[in-house]
Amino acid sequence: MVQSPGNRRLRGNCLCGSIRYEVSDAFVFAANCHCSACRRATGAAFKPFARIHGKELLVTQGEGNFLTFGNNQASDERCKTCGSLLFSRVERGFVHVAMGTLVDSPSISPTDHIFVGSKASWFTIADDLPQHHGHVERAQPD
Ligand SMILES: [Zn+2]
Ligand SMILES: [Zn+2]
Repeated sequence: MVQSPGNRRLRGNCLCGSIRYEVSDAFVFAANCHCSACRRATGAAFKPFARIHGKELLVTQGEGNFLTFGNNQASDERCKTCGSLLFSRVERGFVHVAMGTLVDSPSISPTDHIFVGSKASWFTIADDLPQHHGHVERAQPD
């Protein structure tokens, strides 16, 4: 956890409150992912997520209460009491925070729709954010 002065921290928790975390308000980017994996993992039309390095996220309560789907390289981290998807561990130590679990408002909001190529047919995107067939091609600063 980086503790630089003025680095605002956001709280988040699962549905039942067993797991609580804090994360720096310093996300690399945020997007709405329409891929079939995110749709099924959330049961929703898309998953709004925000990317940050795992060292910026601290589990403050319920460390032992995670239900992990996946492996060391990539996993979805859920509360084993209520099933909430809190965040996913992805490549190179980054995490994708499921933004719906944030309690405090982040300064970032999703800027793109991604994997629109696998969007649910029954859902219509009604905003003007850029839509990408797959990932956004961008330089990803570490
Ligand atoms: Zn829970
Ligand atoms: Zn996805």
